[in-house]
Amino acid sequence: MVVMDEEKLVCPRCGSDERYVLGKTDRRKQMYQCKKCGRRYMKPEDYKVYPKMPCQKCGSVNTRKAGRRILSGGATKQRYRCKDCNHSFYIAETDTSEEAEGR
Ligand SMILES: [Zn+2]
Ligand SMILES: [Zn+2]
Repeated sequence: MVVMDEEKLVCPRCGSDERYVLGKTDRRKQMYQCKKCGRRYMKPEDYKVYPKMPCQKCGSVNTRKAGRRILSGGATKQRYRCKDCNHSFYIAETDTSEEAEGR
């Protein structure tokens, strides 16, 4: 039995290892949700199946994912950080009118 991966899996935001097991993503990767902060995440290796996003500032594809934001309307935004110029930016993953609805 290899359970190591799950054992050392922690929330990328708060570092907690208490999590709910959610469904699979569209690419059949297991999603988890942190019990403490509500952050959804996958195993680090599962992020690799997602394509690289070029930097919006310098155009480098030497970027990494730097967290995902889930908006109140259910839309998600993926944050990326460029390793070359250190610029960080968000990409809306669902094309809803993100911040249109206010609270
Ligand atoms: Zn957390
Ligand atoms: Zn850049």
